[in-house]
Amino acid sequence: GGAGGIPAASVDAFAARLTGRLVRPGEPDYESARRLWNGVIDRRPALVARCRGDDDVAAAVDFARDNGLSPAVRGGGHGVAGHALCDDGLVIDLSEMTGVEVDAGARTVRAEGGCTLGDVDRATQAHGLATPLGVVSATGIAGLTLSGGMGWLRRRYGLSCDNLVSARVVTADGNRLTAGAGEHEDLFWAIRGGGGNFGVVTSFEYRLHPVGPEVFLCFVFYPADRARQVLRSCERYLSEAPEEVAPLGVLGRVPAAEEFPEEAHGEPFVGVAALFPGDPAEGERVLRPLREAAEPIRDLSGPTTYLEAQSFLDGDYPDGWRYYWKSVNTPGLGDELIDRLAGRAAEAPSPYSTLDVWYQGGAMARVGERETAFANRGAPYLLGIEANWQEEADTARNVSWVRDTFADLRSFSSGGVYLNFPGFLEEGEQLLREGYGGNVRRLAEVKAAYDPGNLFRHNANIAPLAP
Ligand code: FAD
Repeated sequence: GGAGGIPAASVDAFAARLTGRLVRPGEPDYESARRLWNGVIDRRPALVARCRGDDDVAAAVDFARDNGLSPAVRGGGHGVAGHALCDDGLVIDLSEMTGVEVDAGARTVRAEGGCTLGDVDRATQAHGLATPLGVVSATGIAGLTLSGGMGWLRRRYGLSCDNLVSARVVTADGNRLTAGAGEHEDLFWAIRGGGGNFGVVTSFEYRLHPVGPEVFLCFVFYPADRARQVLRSCERYLSEAPEEVAPLGVLGRVPAAEEFPEEAHGEPFVGVAALFPGDPAEGERVLRPLREAAEPIRDLSGPTTYLEAQSFLDGDYPDGWRYYWKSVNTPGLGDELIDRLAGRAAEAPSPYSTLDVWYQGGAMARVGERETAFANRGAPYLLGIEANWQEEADTARNVSWVRDTFADLRSFSSGGVYLNFPGFLEEGEQLLREGYGGNVRRLAEVKAAYDPGNLFRHNANIAPLAP
């Protein structure tokens, strides 16, 4: 028989229409096709369509719609909530669509929907250019961009979605559209923050900026009992620092690695990471105050390349480990909150877990809250709560730590979460609304225009506005 009650002949006809492979249960690559970065996620789709291009994606969307399946869409497979996989049903997998074309003269890049950040950065850095992406190179550009995209360049050049020039989208009716200035502007607005609700994006076109290739990276570890002093000095620094700099504060436990003094292994730290995206000598000068906030445990700062800087955290997020993340926007970062962060970080059941302070502002805050679908961009801080652990037996206590910490930090928030750090989205309606903020209604209108049947619902779902 066919998949999920679908006649075998229909499945075979679909397979024949695809250039890429249709992977079914029992086939040798089925197990790898249903594996995601987050080892917590364990789902068994009926079919995985490994698409090779826009035609394949359109065929897959047609097949899903005609057979009453709600497809899961997979870009880089690094969505924390695991919506890139479904049980039963069809996965539209773009992970083999990794083409990148740079137009150095026009300062744009077009990248297919299965690209990782590394795929794009490698191609653009060959021209000394970059578009703002995230901070770990194996992350997919698709999920990242569709729900925002925050990295080292966010204060200088904005979010990934702010740098989108256009996108090619296969919509629920199987049509191929280009969304951009002057073309399907409502769709273009919605995919810059509205996630995978509106169709399958087969390629993204971004604006490029001169970045690197040489840069200076600040990465310094202080004892956590200096958290107030360190995070305060970061804040003072930002009031005067150039917008090139977008620091990330990190609270965690010192890794048992040889670059750290042995007596510090396992001790709580507060760290500061930041990138200066140009001349390393100037970067050394500009970033120096961040490295002198207190007596460090260890200072790993130094000149490097942009490509190296874009992957220096990669090793902290191995494929197949278990992950559960949430986030909270806050309007301030007072002593009481800093103490709470340090206390909660020190209690994390896994030594690999961290609490992160994303200093926002700059270019990302100059775009209006309604200008794109991405909300909460005006909040000065985003606090990330990351549980990262290995063993299944430790899942329950790590999830509890995130939930308790989240509830605690929420008391310092006036609302707002980041939909790219979503837990498993079991939170439901209320937090989704906070993630989309004041854009909820317009998103529901655009959803009704492009996906009235809610075909694309394995995501931070927006219900189409009823006619
Ligand atoms: P996927 O799991 O493939 O996709 C996630 C969801 O996006 C899918 O369920 C689907 O709904 C939708 N989707 C995917 N592809 C498409 C497509 N082609 N068309 C339509 N919809 C699609 N975020 C930041 O902002 N900054 C960071 O620095 C950052 N660092 C991270 C580091 C790590 C190690 C990880 C795991 C995540 C990080 N994130 C960061 C969060 C990241 O942005 C999200 O996890 C994002 O969803 C990853 O996108 P993906 O394409 O890899 O995920």
